[in-house]
Amino acid sequence: MIHYDQINNLPYEPRPAHDVSPRTLEALLGAVQAAANGKARAIAGGWGFSMAGTTEGTRIRTPGYSGLIEPDCLKPGVTSRPFDFDPIVPHETPGPVVRVLAGTTFGELNGLLGPLAVVNQPGFEDLTIGGVMMVGGHGSGIRRGNIASQVRSMDLIVVNAARQAQLVRIEAASDRITDRAAFEAKYPGALLQDADDAVFNAAKVSFGSMGVLLSVVIDTRPAYRLEEDRDLRSLWEDFEKLERQVREDSVSGVHLWINPYRVGADWKAVQSTYRRSLDMKRNERAWGIREADSPMTRKALRLVATKAPRLLPFALEYSLRTVDADDVVMQSPEALDFGPPNRLPVAASSCSIPADGLKEQLEQLLAHFKEGFGKTYVSSPIGLRWVKASDAYLAPQYGRDSVMIEVPVLNDTPHQQDTLERYVEFMVTKLGARPHWGQRLQLSPAQLRSIYGNEAVDTFIRVRRQLDPLAVFDNPLTRHLGL
Ligand SMILES: Cc1cc2nc3c(=O)[nH]c(=O)nc-3n(C[C@H](O)[C@H](O)[C@H](O)COP(=O)(O)OP(=O)(O)OC[C@H]3O[C@@H](n4cnc5c(N)ncnc54)[C@H](O)[C@@H]3O)c2cc1C
Repeated sequence: MIHYDQINNLPYEPRPAHDVSPRTLEALLGAVQAAANGKARAIAGGWGFSMAGTTEGTRIRTPGYSGLIEPDCLKPGVTSRPFDFDPIVPHETPGPVVRVLAGTTFGELNGLLGPLAVVNQPGFEDLTIGGVMMVGGHGSGIRRGNIASQVRSMDLIVVNAARQAQLVRIEAASDRITDRAAFEAKYPGALLQDADDAVFNAAKVSFGSMGVLLSVVIDTRPAYRLEEDRDLRSLWEDFEKLERQVREDSVSGVHLWINPYRVGADWKAVQSTYRRSLDMKRNERAWGIREADSPMTRKALRLVATKAPRLLPFALEYSLRTVDADDVVMQSPEALDFGPPNRLPVAASSCSIPADGLKEQLEQLLAHFKEGFGKTYVSSPIGLRWVKASDAYLAPQYGRDSVMIEVPVLNDTPHQQDTLERYVEFMVTKLGARPHWGQRLQLSPAQLRSIYGNEAVDTFIRVRRQLDPLAVFDNPLTRHLGL
């Protein structure tokens, strides 16, 4: 009998029939071929809370392949695309493209890049490039897209109509970077798919439903530092200024952490503003961040959440006060990582809404939390991050500049599941929001079509049938949603 350990947040059911960890291209092709008569799914760190990473067939674990490899068969002169954030050094040129194995974590990637940096990254360095791009994951910055948007080319192992495992390199027709002759000579039997932007835009956010990602070519930029200013504020005081700051040239990104429950005259929030800095590293984050996952904090939070949840609004208000600190300069990987709060045991849901009209939508959401208080408990500040529109059909940011609103709820808090389910239901039905594929979510097929539109969903399905004609990469989520 095989015993399967829980992998981080990955849901436990259904259990896979087999677990494999290939480490070479040959082993990966072999693993996919061996699974081709049943079902298969790649899984990276298993940090995702959703059903997206589950399979009843063969689970192909990708952390076995991580690191940088030669970006091969490139056309001459391929470089990173200019990124649109260089207000301080306007003449700065983008870095070269690099090829990254899909199981590489952002922490490993940043270490390997040396004098370079990723264009953007999520708030947790243990997440993998393959896992985050596949769920439409993101960092922050209204002028920078989700993680998939920095990808130029992807190598996917599919099962073709002849039931053969096959390497397919996928690029946008409008941005071909691979030399066809060189590719065909190096990889006989492989396919270069670059006739159509649609295939690229569907596959790059497909939560493992089209094949197993081996590697991606991504843009880079020269390493840089950021200054972080965290200021406690009244939420609605000069909210328009905040929305202007989000779009300012000198601002690389803004995060807003809000106590969802009002204590006093106005809701309190902490605004973290990131600006490019040419100064040396200096100062450190406030103790509330540094001690966020200390045994004492964990104990205090659990005590309030389980024994006196009605005190949560006050506990959250206090926690916001402990993170206020200005003028902290860090290298970008450190600045963009949330740090110790990542280690708190939580389940989370996150949904995207259009960045336009944020105030009205946020007011409705806060009213929803107020109404539910007592039946549901949000036990952590809710996080808002702005992300540029995406061209990936099923990315939560598809076709619109978006604000992602994340609701983390501590484990062992009363009504954790209800709190998250009601949040997602409210966001989808009342605000037309799109849930993050790597967080807790529930969605009906009709809701999927209403929030993404028939054209996007149908194009995604067309591409999925093309890349996975025998439905080997089906799983409970794709079957439920009719994908
Ligand atoms: C502490 C914490 C912080 C987080 N911060 C952020 C954040 O800042 N921004 C954000 O957007 N999200 C964030 N998330 C959510 C995150 O995006 C998801 O957890 C996501 O699932 C990535 O985790 P992973 O790399 O372990 O991938 P997994 O959870 O293992 O996989 C995610 C999906 O990708 C697929 N997949 C993985 N590898 C491959 C591959 N090689 N080929 C094909 N499919 C593959 C899987 O099948 C699955 O559907 C956070 C999560 C946690 C726990």
